[in-house]
Amino acid sequence: MKTLKFAVLPGDGIGPEVMEVALDVLKSAGEKFSFTLDYENADIGGIAIDNHGTAFPDSTKQICEASEAILFGSVGGPKWESLPPKEQPERAALLPIRKAFSLYANVRPGLLYPELTDASPLKKERIPNGIDIVCIRELTGGIYFGQPKSTCTLENGEEQAIDTMVYKTSEIERISEVAIDTARARGNRVCSVDKANVLETSVLWRKVVTAYFAKHAPEIELSHMYVDNAAMQLARDPNQFDVLFTENMFGDILSDEMGVICGSLGMLASASLGAQKNSLGLPFGLYEPSGGTAPDIAGQGIANPCAQILSVAMMLRYSFGQLEAATAIETAVEKAVTSGNRTGDIAFGLDPIGTKAMGEAVLSYL
Ligand code: NAD
Repeated sequence: MKTLKFAVLPGDGIGPEVMEVALDVLKSAGEKFSFTLDYENADIGGIAIDNHGTAFPDSTKQICEASEAILFGSVGGPKWESLPPKEQPERAALLPIRKAFSLYANVRPGLLYPELTDASPLKKERIPNGIDIVCIRELTGGIYFGQPKSTCTLENGEEQAIDTMVYKTSEIERISEVAIDTARARGNRVCSVDKANVLETSVLWRKVVTAYFAKHAPEIELSHMYVDNAAMQLARDPNQFDVLFTENMFGDILSDEMGVICGSLGMLASASLGAQKNSLGLPFGLYEPSGGTAPDIAGQGIANPCAQILSVAMMLRYSFGQLEAATAIETAVEKAVTSGNRTGDIAFGLDPIGTKAMGEAVLSYL
C-alpha cells in the first residue's frame, strides 16, 4: 500500500474548516484506492504570525521540504490588516512560499457544471453547457516580484511608490511548456494574453511565446489577445477560450473573473507547480482553493469545501499520480453539487446545507 506524504497548511479564516472536510474525503479515497496518508500540519499566514511571530516560519518550511506536496488552505484576514504591508499574511507567506519552492506555474481550472448555470452571473444563453476553461498563470515573475519595489518621499513632500515588471526569456519559455502540456490534454488551443501595445515585458512575452510554440508545439492553435479585451471576452463568451495563458498580474485578475463567472469561488481549485520533482519523480506542487479566507462567513460552518476537496484531487493527480482516485473525487463533487447540495455561495436563494453536510454529500458519492 502506498503512503502519501504531504504537508497540510490550513491557514486562516475558513481555511481550517474546509481543510478538515477535504481531509475526510481524502482519507475515504485512500481506503477505496489503497493508499495511506502521512501528513503533518503546520502554521502559515496570520495564525503563524500569532504563534511564531512570522507568516512563514522556518519550522513550516522544513515540514514542506520533507513532503512530496503541500495542501494549502488560505491566509489573511482583518486581524492582520493593520500590520505593515510587507508583514501581512499574503505578502509574507504566499509570495515567499511560491518563491521558496519555485512554484512558477499556476493551473486554475474554470469549471461550471451545466446544471449550475443559474449560479453564474452570466446569462444562461451565453453558457448553455456551463463553462470549461483553464487558466495558466505565471506565478513567480512580473510586477509582484520585480525590483526595485519601494516607496519614498520626494523633496516636495509627495510620496512616490515604484513596482517593477520584469520578465526574461527563460521564465516565459518554461511557463509556455506548461500551457502546451495543458492544451495537449484538452482542446489544443491556447490564447496568450498580454498588453503588448504598451508594455515592454508584453512585447517580449508575445515574441517568446510565438517562437516557443512554433518550435515545440506547431500543432497547437495559438492566438494572442490584449488583457483588456480578454477581460471583456471572458464576460461575453468564456467558452471561446480553451487554455487562457498569461503573466502573473493579468492572471491574478483574469482568474478571479473566471471564478465569478463560474458561479462560485468556493468551487475552484488550483495547483501551483514548479521545476522541482518529488521523490516519486512527479511535480512537487502546492494545491489550494482559488478563494481567500472569506472572513465574512468564517466560523459559521457554511463555507463551500468543494474548492479544497478539488485541490486534494489535483494533488492526487499531479504530485502522486493517483489518477483514478482524483477522477473519483471530482466525479463525487460534481454529483454532490448537481444533485441539489449547495452551500451558501452557490445557493442563490436556496438554503445553504453547510460545510460538513457538503463534505458528507461528496463522501456519499465516492
Ligand atoms: P475571499 O475569496 O476570501 O472572499 C470573497 C467572497 O467570496 C466572500 O464573499 C466570501 O464569503 C466568498 N467565498 C470565498 N470562498 C468561499 C467559500 N469556500 N465558500 C463560500 N464563499 C466563499 O476574498 P477577499 O474577501 O478579498 O479576501 C479575504 C481575505 O483572504 C483577505 O485577507 C485576503 O488577503 C485573503 N486572500 C487570501 C488568498 C490566499 O490565501 N490564496 C487569496 C485571496 C484572498
